[in-house]
Amino acid sequence: MKQSKYFNPTLRDNPADAEIKSHRLLVRAGFMRQNASGIYSYLPLGKKVLMKIEEVIRRELDEAGAQELLMPAIQPAELWQETGRWDVYGPELMRLKDRHDRAFALGATHEELITSLVRDELSSYKQLPVILYQIQTKYRDERRPRFGLLRGREFIMKDAYSFHSSEKQLDEAYNLMHATYSKIFTKLGLNFRPVVADSGAMGGQDTEEFMALSSVGEDTIAYSDASDYAANIEMAEVHVAYEKSAEAEFPLTKGEAEAALDRQIHPTIVKVKDETILVLVRGDHKLNDIKVKNLFSTDMVDVPDEAVDIKEFKGTIIADHAVKAMVNAVVTGAHAYQNLNPERDLTIERFEDLRFIQEGDPAPDGKGTIVFAEGIEIGQVFKLGTKYSETMKASFLDEGGKAQPIIMGCYGIGVSRTLAAIAEQSADENGLKWPLAVTPFDLHLITINVKDADQTTLSDRLYNTLRDIRYDVLYDDRKERAGVKFKDADLIGLPLRVIVGKKASEGIVEVKRRDTGESVEVHVDELTTTLQQLFSQMN
Ligand code: ATP
Ligand code: MG
Repeated sequence: MKQSKYFNPTLRDNPADAEIKSHRLLVRAGFMRQNASGIYSYLPLGKKVLMKIEEVIRRELDEAGAQELLMPAIQPAELWQETGRWDVYGPELMRLKDRHDRAFALGATHEELITSLVRDELSSYKQLPVILYQIQTKYRDERRPRFGLLRGREFIMKDAYSFHSSEKQLDEAYNLMHATYSKIFTKLGLNFRPVVADSGAMGGQDTEEFMALSSVGEDTIAYSDASDYAANIEMAEVHVAYEKSAEAEFPLTKGEAEAALDRQIHPTIVKVKDETILVLVRGDHKLNDIKVKNLFSTDMVDVPDEAVDIKEFKGTIIADHAVKAMVNAVVTGAHAYQNLNPERDLTIERFEDLRFIQEGDPAPDGKGTIVFAEGIEIGQVFKLGTKYSETMKASFLDEGGKAQPIIMGCYGIGVSRTLAAIAEQSADENGLKWPLAVTPFDLHLITINVKDADQTTLSDRLYNTLRDIRYDVLYDDRKERAGVKFKDADLIGLPLRVIVGKKASEGIVEVKRRDTGESVEVHVDELTTTLQQLFSQMN
Protein backbone atom coordinates (compact mmCIF):
# COMPACT_ATOMS: atom_id res chain seq x y z
CA MET A 1 0.00 0.00 0.00
CA LYS A 2 1.36 3.37 -0.99
CA GLN A 3 1.18 5.71 1.93
CA SER A 4 0.54 8.72 -0.33
CA LYS A 5 -2.83 7.13 -1.13
CA TYR A 6 -3.53 5.53 2.24
CA PHE A 7 -6.33 6.76 4.49
CA ASN A 8 -4.14 7.20 7.53
CA PRO A 9 -4.74 10.57 9.12
CA THR A 10 -2.09 11.06 11.81
CA LEU A 11 -2.16 13.75 14.47
CA ARG A 12 0.74 15.62 15.95
CA ASP A 13 -1.05 16.36 19.21
CA ASN A 14 -2.74 14.14 21.73
CA PRO A 15 -6.54 14.06 21.62
CA ALA A 16 -7.85 15.98 24.62
CA ASP A 17 -10.05 13.20 25.99
CA ALA A 18 -7.46 10.42 25.81
CA GLU A 19 -6.26 9.59 29.32
CA ILE A 20 -4.11 6.56 28.56
CA LYS A 21 -1.27 5.74 26.20
CA SER A 22 -3.05 3.21 23.98
CA HIS A 23 -5.97 5.57 23.42
CA ARG A 24 -3.68 8.50 22.60
CA LEU A 25 -1.50 6.50 20.25
CA LEU A 26 -4.27 4.65 18.42
CA VAL A 27 -5.96 7.97 17.64
CA ARG A 28 -2.77 9.86 16.81
CA ALA A 29 -1.42 7.08 14.59
CA GLY A 30 -4.70 6.98 12.67
CA PHE A 31 -5.99 3.56 13.73
CA MET A 32 -9.34 4.86 14.93
CA ARG A 33 -11.58 7.85 15.46
CA GLN A 34 -14.29 8.49 18.01
CA ASN A 35 -17.83 9.10 16.72
CA ALA A 36 -19.61 9.41 20.06
CA SER A 37 -18.73 8.58 23.63
CA GLY A 38 -17.56 4.97 23.66
CA ILE A 39 -18.29 4.54 19.94
CA TYR A 40 -15.50 4.33 17.39
CA SER A 41 -14.67 3.84 13.75
CA TYR A 42 -11.73 1.63 12.93
CA LEU A 43 -9.71 3.26 10.16
CA PRO A 44 -7.86 1.01 7.68
CA LEU A 45 -4.85 0.42 9.98
CA GLY A 46 -7.08 -0.38 12.95
CA LYS A 47 -9.28 -2.65 10.87
CA LYS A 48 -6.22 -4.59 9.75
CA VAL A 49 -5.11 -5.20 13.34
CA LEU A 50 -8.63 -6.25 14.29
CA MET A 51 -8.69 -8.77 11.48
CA LYS A 52 -5.33 -10.18 12.56
CA ILE A 53 -6.56 -10.60 16.12
CA GLU A 54 -9.72 -12.26 14.86
CA GLU A 55 -7.63 -14.55 12.68
CA VAL A 56 -5.62 -15.77 15.69
CA ILE A 57 -8.81 -16.31 17.67
CA ARG A 58 -10.53 -18.15 14.82
CA ARG A 59 -7.60 -20.41 14.12
CA GLU A 60 -7.30 -21.55 17.74
CA LEU A 61 -11.04 -21.95 18.30
CA ASP A 62 -11.51 -23.88 15.08
CA GLU A 63 -8.56 -26.07 16.08
CA ALA A 64 -10.35 -26.73 19.40
CA GLY A 65 -13.41 -27.90 17.47
CA ALA A 66 -15.58 -24.83 18.02
CA GLN A 67 -17.83 -23.81 15.12
CA GLU A 68 -18.37 -20.25 14.01
CA LEU A 69 -21.83 -18.85 13.43
CA LEU A 70 -23.23 -15.33 13.40
CA MET A 71 -26.24 -14.20 15.39
CA PRO A 72 -28.15 -10.93 15.09
CA ALA A 73 -27.31 -7.87 17.16
CA ILE A 74 -31.02 -7.06 17.36
CA GLN A 75 -32.75 -9.44 19.74
CA PRO A 76 -36.46 -9.69 20.60
CA ALA A 77 -37.30 -8.48 24.12
CA GLU A 78 -39.33 -11.66 24.74
CA LEU A 79 -36.13 -13.71 24.99
CA TRP A 80 -34.73 -11.41 27.66
CA GLN A 81 -38.08 -11.47 29.46
CA GLU A 82 -37.99 -15.28 29.52
CA THR A 83 -34.84 -15.25 31.66
CA GLY A 84 -35.85 -12.14 33.60
CA ARG A 85 -32.78 -10.26 32.42
CA TRP A 86 -34.93 -7.67 30.61
CA ASP A 87 -35.39 -6.20 34.11
CA VAL A 88 -32.19 -7.28 35.83
CA TYR A 89 -29.77 -5.97 33.19
CA GLY A 90 -30.81 -2.37 33.79
CA PRO A 91 -29.87 0.67 31.73
CA GLU A 92 -26.75 -0.99 30.27
CA LEU A 93 -29.02 -2.89 27.92
CA MET A 94 -29.80 -0.70 24.93
CA ARG A 95 -33.43 -1.05 23.98
CA LEU A 96 -35.39 -0.03 20.93
CA LYS A 97 -38.78 -0.43 19.30
CA ASP A 98 -39.63 -1.30 15.75
CA ARG A 99 -42.37 0.40 13.69
CA HIS A 100 -44.96 -1.97 15.18
CA ASP A 101 -43.95 -0.93 18.68
CA ARG A 102 -42.32 -4.29 19.42
CA ALA A 103 -39.45 -4.11 21.88
CA PHE A 104 -35.94 -5.26 21.08
CA ALA A 105 -32.54 -5.16 22.73
CA LEU A 106 -29.23 -4.52 21.08
CA GLY A 107 -27.28 -7.61 22.13
CA ALA A 108 -25.09 -7.00 25.17
CA THR A 109 -24.41 -10.73 25.18
CA HIS A 110 -26.07 -13.71 23.50
CA GLU A 111 -27.01 -16.37 26.07
CA GLU A 112 -30.72 -15.87 25.48
CA LEU A 113 -30.47 -15.84 21.75
CA ILE A 114 -28.26 -18.89 21.43
CA THR A 115 -30.29 -20.86 23.98
CA SER A 116 -33.40 -20.13 21.95
CA LEU A 117 -31.58 -21.36 18.85
CA VAL A 118 -30.36 -24.63 20.26
CA ARG A 119 -33.53 -25.51 22.11
CA ASP A 120 -35.26 -25.76 18.76
CA GLU A 121 -32.44 -27.64 17.05
CA LEU A 122 -30.62 -29.87 19.56
CA SER A 123 -32.70 -32.66 21.01
CA SER A 124 -30.57 -35.73 21.68
CA TYR A 125 -27.51 -36.50 23.82
CA LYS A 126 -26.00 -37.82 20.59
CA GLN A 127 -25.73 -34.26 19.26
CA LEU A 128 -23.74 -33.09 22.29
CA PRO A 129 -21.25 -31.66 23.05
CA VAL A 130 -21.26 -28.64 20.74
CA ILE A 131 -19.25 -25.44 20.99
CA LEU A 132 -20.51 -22.50 18.92
CA TYR A 133 -18.94 -19.08 18.65
CA GLN A 134 -19.25 -15.78 16.88
CA ILE A 135 -17.25 -12.60 16.50
CA GLN A 136 -19.71 -9.79 16.63
CA THR A 137 -20.50 -6.26 17.73
CA LYS A 138 -21.96 -5.90 21.22
CA TYR A 139 -23.77 -2.98 22.79
CA ARG A 140 -23.65 -1.92 26.42
CA ASP A 141 -24.64 1.52 27.54
CA GLU A 142 -21.80 1.69 30.05
CA ARG A 143 -22.10 4.19 32.85
CA ARG A 144 -18.55 5.36 32.23
CA PRO A 145 -17.23 4.61 28.78
CA ARG A 146 -13.55 5.46 28.82
CA PHE A 147 -10.00 4.62 27.87
CA GLY A 148 -10.87 4.36 24.18
CA LEU A 149 -11.51 0.78 23.15
CA LEU A 150 -11.02 -0.55 26.67
CA ARG A 151 -14.55 0.35 27.74
CA GLY A 152 -16.75 1.13 24.78
CA ARG A 153 -20.50 1.21 24.39
CA GLU A 154 -20.24 -0.52 21.04
CA PHE A 155 -17.43 -3.08 20.97
CA ILE A 156 -16.40 -6.30 19.33
CA MET A 157 -16.60 -9.53 21.27
CA LYS A 158 -15.90 -13.13 20.53
CA ASP A 159 -18.52 -15.07 22.41
CA ALA A 160 -18.64 -18.84 22.55
CA TYR A 161 -21.24 -21.11 24.10
CA SER A 162 -20.94 -24.82 24.81
CA PHE A 163 -23.72 -27.37 25.26
CA HIS A 164 -23.43 -30.64 27.16
CA SER A 165 -25.21 -33.72 28.38
CA SER A 166 -23.10 -34.07 31.54
CA GLU A 167 -21.02 -32.06 34.00
CA LYS A 168 -18.00 -34.06 32.89
CA GLN A 169 -18.48 -32.87 29.31
CA LEU A 170 -18.79 -29.30 30.54
CA ASP A 171 -15.58 -29.62 32.57
CA GLU A 172 -13.77 -30.87 29.46
CA ALA A 173 -15.00 -27.99 27.33
CA TYR A 174 -14.20 -25.46 30.05
CA ASN A 175 -10.67 -26.78 30.38
CA LEU A 176 -10.28 -26.86 26.60
CA MET A 177 -11.45 -23.25 26.27
CA HIS A 178 -9.20 -22.22 29.14
CA ALA A 179 -6.20 -23.78 27.40
CA THR A 180 -7.28 -22.29 24.06
CA TYR A 181 -7.48 -18.80 25.57
CA SER A 182 -3.99 -19.19 26.97
CA LYS A 183 -2.75 -20.12 23.49
CA ILE A 184 -4.58 -17.18 21.90
CA PHE A 185 -3.28 -14.55 24.31
CA THR A 186 0.23 -15.99 24.10
CA LYS A 187 0.12 -15.83 20.28
CA LEU A 188 -1.11 -12.26 20.54
CA GLY A 189 2.06 -11.40 22.45
CA LEU A 190 0.27 -10.39 25.66
CA ASN A 191 1.55 -10.52 29.21
CA PHE A 192 -1.52 -12.01 30.89
CA ARG A 193 -2.71 -14.13 33.78
CA PRO A 194 -5.86 -16.21 34.36
CA VAL A 195 -7.50 -15.38 37.68
CA VAL A 196 -10.39 -16.75 39.71
CA ALA A 197 -13.40 -14.46 39.24
CA ASP A 198 -16.92 -13.74 40.37
CA SER A 199 -19.73 -15.26 38.35
CA GLY A 200 -21.77 -12.07 38.77
CA ALA A 201 -25.12 -11.60 37.11
CA MET A 202 -24.36 -14.55 34.83
CA GLY A 203 -25.10 -16.80 37.78
CA GLY A 204 -22.69 -19.62 37.18
CA GLN A 205 -20.29 -21.84 39.02
CA ASP A 206 -16.59 -21.89 38.10
CA THR A 207 -15.30 -18.88 36.26
CA GLU A 208 -11.94 -17.39 35.49
CA GLU A 209 -10.91 -14.12 33.92
CA PHE A 210 -7.92 -13.57 31.68
CA MET A 211 -6.17 -10.40 32.71
CA ALA A 212 -3.64 -8.47 30.63
CA LEU A 213 -1.30 -7.02 33.23
CA SER A 214 -1.23 -3.26 32.94
CA SER A 215 -1.15 -0.32 35.29
CA VAL A 216 -4.21 1.14 33.54
CA GLY A 217 -6.30 -1.97 34.22
CA GLU A 218 -9.54 -1.36 36.08
CA ASP A 219 -9.42 -4.72 37.85
CA THR A 220 -7.15 -5.55 40.73
CA ILE A 221 -5.64 -9.00 40.89
CA ALA A 222 -4.65 -10.47 44.23
CA TYR A 223 -1.92 -13.02 43.79
CA SER A 224 0.40 -14.96 46.03
CA ASP A 225 4.08 -14.11 46.11
CA ALA A 226 4.80 -17.81 46.65
CA SER A 227 2.32 -19.86 44.59
CA ASP A 228 0.10 -19.87 41.48
CA TYR A 229 -2.83 -18.45 43.42
CA ALA A 230 -4.39 -15.48 41.60
CA ALA A 231 -7.89 -14.06 41.93
CA ASN A 232 -9.81 -10.95 41.12
CA ILE A 233 -9.86 -9.07 44.45
CA GLU A 234 -13.64 -9.16 44.22
CA MET A 235 -13.41 -12.89 44.84
CA ALA A 236 -10.27 -13.52 46.87
CA GLU A 237 -11.21 -15.20 50.12
CA VAL A 238 -9.72 -13.86 53.30
CA HIS A 239 -8.25 -16.53 55.56
CA VAL A 240 -6.99 -14.77 58.66
CA ALA A 241 -7.17 -16.15 62.19
CA TYR A 242 -8.00 -13.03 64.19
CA GLU A 243 -7.01 -13.15 67.84
CA LYS A 244 -9.17 -11.46 70.43
CA SER A 245 -7.13 -9.36 72.86
CA ALA A 246 -7.38 -10.11 76.56
CA GLU A 247 -8.17 -6.52 77.58
CA ALA A 248 -11.17 -5.98 79.88
CA GLU A 249 -14.50 -4.98 78.32
CA PHE A 250 -15.70 -1.54 79.37
CA PRO A 251 -19.32 -0.39 79.47
CA LEU A 252 -20.78 0.90 76.23
CA THR A 253 -21.11 4.68 76.02
CA LYS A 254 -22.37 7.12 73.38
CA GLY A 255 -20.24 9.83 71.80
CA GLU A 256 -17.22 10.40 69.58
CA ALA A 257 -13.75 9.16 70.47
CA GLU A 258 -10.44 9.08 68.65
CA ALA A 259 -9.27 5.63 67.67
CA ALA A 260 -6.98 3.93 65.19
CA LEU A 261 -8.87 2.50 62.20
CA ASP A 262 -8.36 -1.07 63.32
CA ARG A 263 -10.17 -0.19 66.60
CA GLN A 264 -13.18 1.15 64.68
CA ILE A 265 -16.25 -0.62 63.34
CA HIS A 266 -17.71 0.69 60.09
CA PRO A 267 -21.42 -0.01 59.74
CA THR A 268 -23.00 -0.06 56.27
CA ILE A 269 -26.63 -0.47 55.31
CA VAL A 270 -27.23 -2.74 52.32
CA LYS A 271 -30.46 -3.56 50.58
CA VAL A 272 -30.76 -7.16 49.46
CA LYS A 273 -33.99 -8.42 47.90
CA ASP A 274 -36.07 -5.67 49.61
CA GLU A 275 -34.52 -6.47 53.00
CA THR A 276 -32.34 -3.95 54.81
CA ILE A 277 -29.27 -5.51 56.36
CA LEU A 278 -26.57 -3.99 58.52
CA VAL A 279 -23.05 -5.08 57.66
CA LEU A 280 -20.11 -4.45 59.97
CA VAL A 281 -16.45 -4.45 59.01
CA ARG A 282 -13.35 -3.27 60.83
CA GLY A 283 -12.36 0.33 60.08
CA ASP A 284 -9.15 -0.58 58.28
CA HIS A 285 -11.01 -3.05 56.07
CA LYS A 286 -13.20 -2.44 53.02
CA LEU A 287 -16.65 -3.96 52.65
CA ASN A 288 -16.87 -6.23 49.62
CA ASP A 289 -20.41 -5.97 48.28
CA ILE A 290 -19.82 -8.92 45.95
CA LYS A 291 -19.29 -11.18 48.93
CA VAL A 292 -22.55 -9.85 50.39
CA LYS A 293 -24.28 -10.52 47.10
CA ASN A 294 -22.95 -14.07 46.94
CA LEU A 295 -23.88 -14.70 50.57
CA PHE A 296 -27.50 -13.89 49.80
CA SER A 297 -27.40 -15.53 46.34
CA THR A 298 -28.64 -12.42 44.63
CA ASP A 299 -27.63 -10.50 41.53
CA MET A 300 -28.02 -7.09 43.11
CA VAL A 301 -27.06 -5.35 46.32
CA ASP A 302 -27.77 -1.70 46.69
CA VAL A 303 -25.56 0.26 49.06
CA PRO A 304 -27.38 3.53 49.82
CA ASP A 305 -25.39 6.18 51.59
CA GLU A 306 -27.33 6.14 54.86
CA ALA A 307 -26.15 6.86 58.39
CA VAL A 308 -27.30 4.25 60.87
CA ASP A 309 -27.50 3.92 64.63
CA ILE A 310 -26.25 0.39 65.12
CA LYS A 311 -27.84 0.01 68.58
CA GLU A 312 -31.25 1.05 67.26
CA PHE A 313 -31.09 -1.01 64.06
CA LYS A 314 -33.91 -3.57 63.99
CA GLY A 315 -33.10 -5.84 61.03
CA THR A 316 -30.49 -8.53 60.43
CA ILE A 317 -26.89 -7.71 61.35
CA ILE A 318 -23.99 -9.57 59.80
CA ALA A 319 -20.31 -8.90 60.41
CA ASP A 320 -16.93 -9.73 59.02
CA HIS A 321 -14.87 -12.30 60.95
CA ALA A 322 -12.47 -9.58 62.08
CA VAL A 323 -15.25 -7.85 64.01
CA LYS A 324 -15.71 -10.91 66.26
CA ALA A 325 -12.25 -10.42 67.72
CA MET A 326 -12.72 -6.70 68.51
CA VAL A 327 -12.79 -5.41 72.10
CA ASN A 328 -13.96 -1.94 73.16
CA ALA A 329 -14.45 -0.83 69.58
CA VAL A 330 -15.36 2.66 68.44
CA VAL A 331 -18.07 3.77 66.04
CA THR A 332 -17.70 7.30 64.66
CA GLY A 333 -20.08 9.59 62.80
CA ALA A 334 -23.66 10.74 63.45
CA HIS A 335 -24.34 7.85 65.83
CA ALA A 336 -21.02 7.39 67.62
CA TYR A 337 -20.22 4.82 70.31
CA GLN A 338 -17.28 3.86 72.48
CA ASN A 339 -16.43 0.51 74.06
CA LEU A 340 -18.66 -1.40 71.74
CA ASN A 341 -18.17 -5.12 72.24
CA PRO A 342 -19.86 -6.63 69.24
CA GLU A 343 -21.12 -9.91 70.62
CA ARG A 344 -22.11 -8.38 73.97
CA ASP A 345 -23.83 -5.25 72.62
CA LEU A 346 -25.35 -6.37 69.33
CA THR A 347 -27.31 -9.29 67.98
CA ILE A 348 -25.10 -10.38 65.13
CA GLU A 349 -26.72 -13.14 63.13
CA ARG A 350 -23.55 -14.42 61.50
CA PHE A 351 -19.87 -13.72 61.03
CA GLU A 352 -18.74 -14.15 57.45
CA ASP A 353 -15.92 -13.25 55.09
CA LEU A 354 -17.23 -9.87 53.95
CA ARG A 355 -14.22 -7.71 53.28
CA PHE A 356 -11.80 -7.19 50.42
CA ILE A 357 -8.48 -8.95 50.72
CA GLN A 358 -5.53 -6.62 51.31
CA GLU A 359 -1.87 -6.67 50.38
CA GLY A 360 0.00 -8.45 53.14
CA ASP A 361 -2.87 -10.81 53.99
CA PRO A 362 -1.93 -14.48 53.87
CA ALA A 363 -2.75 -16.11 50.52
CA PRO A 364 -5.94 -18.20 50.79
CA ASP A 365 -4.10 -21.33 49.63
CA GLY A 366 -1.87 -21.04 52.69
CA LYS A 367 1.23 -20.32 50.63
CA GLY A 368 2.81 -16.88 50.80
CA THR A 369 1.43 -13.39 51.07
CA ILE A 370 -0.97 -11.43 48.90
CA VAL A 371 0.37 -8.86 46.45
CA PHE A 372 -1.76 -6.73 44.11
CA ALA A 373 -1.42 -6.01 40.39
CA GLU A 374 -3.68 -4.19 37.97
CA GLY A 375 -5.19 -6.01 35.03
CA ILE A 376 -7.38 -5.45 31.98
CA GLU A 377 -10.02 -8.18 31.65
CA ILE A 378 -9.56 -9.42 28.10
CA GLY A 379 -11.52 -12.64 28.41
CA GLN A 380 -13.58 -14.79 30.69
CA VAL A 381 -14.61 -18.45 30.82
CA PHE A 382 -17.78 -19.49 32.66
CA LYS A 383 -19.56 -22.65 33.67
CA LEU A 384 -23.17 -21.61 33.32
CA GLY A 385 -24.69 -24.95 34.22
CA THR A 386 -28.42 -25.08 33.57
CA LYS A 387 -29.34 -21.50 34.48
CA TYR A 388 -30.42 -20.57 30.95
CA SER A 389 -31.56 -23.98 29.76
CA GLU A 390 -33.92 -24.37 32.72
CA THR A 391 -35.58 -20.98 32.48
CA MET A 392 -35.73 -21.20 28.70
CA LYS A 393 -36.65 -24.90 28.59
CA ALA A 394 -33.79 -26.07 26.42
CA SER A 395 -33.59 -29.79 26.97
CA PHE A 396 -32.18 -32.92 25.38
CA LEU A 397 -33.18 -36.57 25.66
CA ASP A 398 -30.63 -38.61 27.58
CA GLU A 399 -29.71 -42.25 26.88
CA GLY A 400 -32.76 -43.40 28.78
CA GLY A 401 -35.02 -41.15 26.70
CA LYS A 402 -35.57 -38.76 29.60
CA ALA A 403 -35.64 -34.97 29.05
CA GLN A 404 -32.80 -33.11 30.84
CA PRO A 405 -31.82 -29.45 30.75
CA ILE A 406 -28.78 -28.85 28.53
CA ILE A 407 -25.66 -28.02 30.56
CA MET A 408 -23.94 -24.91 29.28
CA GLY A 409 -20.70 -22.95 29.37
CA CYS A 410 -19.88 -19.56 27.91
CA TYR A 411 -16.60 -17.98 26.95
CA GLY A 412 -15.93 -14.38 25.93
CA ILE A 413 -13.01 -12.43 24.55
CA GLY A 414 -13.14 -8.67 24.20
CA VAL A 415 -11.67 -8.40 20.72
CA SER A 416 -11.53 -4.61 20.51
CA ARG A 417 -10.45 -4.38 24.14
CA THR A 418 -7.66 -6.86 23.37
CA LEU A 419 -6.49 -4.56 20.58
CA ALA A 420 -6.20 -1.72 23.09
CA ALA A 421 -4.53 -4.00 25.66
CA ILE A 422 -1.88 -5.02 23.13
CA ALA A 423 -1.32 -1.36 22.25
CA GLU A 424 -1.06 -0.51 25.94
CA GLN A 425 1.53 -3.22 26.58
CA SER A 426 3.50 -2.78 23.35
CA ALA A 427 4.30 0.88 22.93
CA ASP A 428 6.69 3.59 24.01
CA GLU A 429 6.33 7.34 24.12
CA ASN A 430 7.01 7.62 20.39
CA GLY A 431 4.39 5.19 19.30
CA LEU A 432 3.14 1.66 18.93
CA LYS A 433 5.23 -1.51 18.59
CA TRP A 434 3.03 -4.18 17.08
CA PRO A 435 3.78 -7.82 17.83
CA LEU A 436 4.28 -9.82 14.63
CA ALA A 437 1.03 -11.74 15.00
CA VAL A 438 -1.13 -8.63 14.74
CA THR A 439 0.94 -6.01 12.95
CA PRO A 440 -1.15 -4.17 10.33
CA PHE A 441 1.68 -4.46 7.77
CA ASP A 442 4.86 -6.53 7.95
CA LEU A 443 7.18 -3.87 6.62
CA HIS A 444 7.44 -0.13 6.38
CA LEU A 445 9.36 0.79 3.23
CA ILE A 446 10.49 4.40 3.43
CA THR A 447 12.04 6.53 0.73
CA ILE A 448 13.96 9.34 2.36
CA ASN A 449 13.97 11.69 -0.61
CA VAL A 450 11.40 11.05 -3.33
CA LYS A 451 13.04 13.66 -5.58
CA ASP A 452 16.10 11.44 -5.89
CA ALA A 453 15.66 9.17 -8.90
CA ASP A 454 17.98 6.43 -7.55
CA GLN A 455 15.98 6.29 -4.33
CA THR A 456 12.57 6.14 -6.00
CA THR A 457 13.67 3.59 -8.61
CA LEU A 458 15.11 1.30 -5.98
CA SER A 459 12.14 1.80 -3.65
CA ASP A 460 9.64 1.00 -6.41
CA ARG A 461 11.60 -2.12 -7.27
CA LEU A 462 11.75 -3.26 -3.65
CA TYR A 463 8.06 -2.53 -3.18
CA ASN A 464 7.29 -5.00 -5.97
CA THR A 465 9.76 -7.72 -5.03
CA LEU A 466 8.85 -7.63 -1.33
CA ARG A 467 5.17 -7.95 -2.16
CA ASP A 468 5.96 -10.76 -4.59
CA ILE A 469 7.38 -12.76 -1.69
CA ARG A 470 4.17 -12.08 0.22
CA TYR A 471 5.23 -9.39 2.60
CA ASP A 472 2.49 -6.91 3.32
CA VAL A 473 4.24 -3.58 2.74
CA LEU A 474 3.36 -0.04 3.67
CA TYR A 475 5.37 2.13 1.27
CA ASP A 476 6.04 5.68 2.41
CA ASP A 477 6.35 7.35 -1.00
CA ARG A 478 5.14 10.71 0.31
CA LYS A 479 6.81 14.00 -0.47
CA GLU A 480 7.56 14.64 3.20
CA ARG A 481 10.73 15.41 5.08
CA ALA A 482 12.61 12.40 6.46
CA GLY A 483 11.91 13.59 10.02
CA VAL A 484 8.17 13.55 9.45
CA LYS A 485 8.32 10.11 7.88
CA PHE A 486 10.34 8.64 10.74
CA LYS A 487 8.03 10.15 13.33
CA ASP A 488 5.01 8.66 11.60
CA ALA A 489 6.76 5.32 11.26
CA ASP A 490 7.49 5.25 14.98
CA LEU A 491 3.91 6.20 15.70
CA ILE A 492 2.41 3.49 13.48
CA GLY A 493 4.85 0.94 14.87
CA LEU A 494 5.43 -1.68 12.16
CA PRO A 495 8.02 -4.23 13.34
CA LEU A 496 10.60 -3.68 10.58
CA ARG A 497 11.49 -0.68 8.50
CA VAL A 498 13.42 -0.70 5.19
CA ILE A 499 14.88 2.74 4.60
CA VAL A 500 16.02 3.73 1.13
CA GLY A 501 18.33 6.74 1.34
CA LYS A 502 21.61 8.13 0.08
CA LYS A 503 23.24 4.75 -0.57
CA ALA A 504 20.48 3.74 -2.97
CA SER A 505 22.86 4.21 -5.88
CA GLU A 506 25.13 1.52 -4.35
CA GLY A 507 22.17 -0.75 -3.75
CA ILE A 508 22.43 -0.37 0.03
CA VAL A 509 19.46 0.13 2.35
CA GLU A 510 18.99 0.29 6.10
CA VAL A 511 16.82 -2.15 8.04
CA LYS A 512 15.58 -1.02 11.42
CA ARG A 513 13.70 -2.82 14.17
CA ARG A 514 10.91 -0.93 15.89
CA ASP A 515 11.14 -2.94 19.13
CA THR A 516 14.85 -2.54 19.89
CA GLY A 517 15.67 0.39 17.64
CA GLU A 518 18.67 -1.55 16.24
CA SER A 519 19.51 -1.06 12.59
CA VAL A 520 21.77 -2.65 9.97
CA GLU A 521 22.84 -1.69 6.48
CA VAL A 522 22.40 -4.39 3.87
CA HIS A 523 22.81 -4.76 0.15
CA VAL A 524 19.47 -5.32 -1.56
CA ASP A 525 20.69 -8.75 -2.73
CA GLU A 526 20.76 -9.83 0.90
CA LEU A 527 17.65 -7.98 1.94
CA THR A 528 15.20 -10.88 1.98
CA THR A 529 17.61 -13.11 3.93
CA THR A 530 18.14 -10.34 6.48
CA LEU A 531 14.42 -9.75 6.81
CA GLN A 532 13.76 -13.45 7.32
CA GLN A 533 16.42 -13.62 10.01
CA LEU A 534 15.12 -10.57 11.82
CA PHE A 535 11.52 -11.74 11.70
CA SER A 536 12.50 -15.15 13.07
CA GLN A 537 14.32 -13.47 15.98
CA MET A 538 11.18 -11.54 16.77
CA ASN A 539 8.88 -14.57 16.95
P1 ATP B 1 -16.26 -5.60 32.62
O1 ATP B 1 -16.23 -6.22 34.00
O2 ATP B 1 -14.94 -5.08 32.18
O3 ATP B 1 -17.39 -4.63 32.43
P2 ATP B 1 -17.70 -7.92 31.83
O4 ATP B 1 -17.21 -8.92 32.82
O5 ATP B 1 -19.00 -7.27 32.02
O6 ATP B 1 -16.57 -6.79 31.62
P3 ATP B 1 -18.19 -10.00 29.92
O7 ATP B 1 -19.65 -10.01 29.96
O8 ATP B 1 -17.43 -11.07 30.61
O9 ATP B 1 -17.65 -8.57 30.38
O10 ATP B 1 -17.75 -9.89 28.39
C1 ATP B 1 -16.71 -10.66 27.79
C2 ATP B 1 -15.54 -9.78 27.43
O11 ATP B 1 -15.93 -8.65 26.66
C3 ATP B 1 -14.84 -9.19 28.63
O12 ATP B 1 -13.92 -10.11 29.17
C4 ATP B 1 -14.16 -7.97 28.03
O13 ATP B 1 -12.91 -8.33 27.49
C5 ATP B 1 -15.09 -7.55 26.92
N1 ATP B 1 -15.87 -6.36 27.30
C6 ATP B 1 -16.88 -6.29 28.20
N2 ATP B 1 -17.37 -5.06 28.27
C7 ATP B 1 -16.68 -4.31 27.38
C8 ATP B 1 -16.74 -2.94 26.97
N3 ATP B 1 -17.61 -2.10 27.50
N4 ATP B 1 -15.87 -2.51 26.02
C9 ATP B 1 -14.98 -3.37 25.48
N5 ATP B 1 -14.88 -4.67 25.82
C10 ATP B 1 -15.72 -5.14 26.76
MG1 MG C 1 -16.38 -10.60 32.53
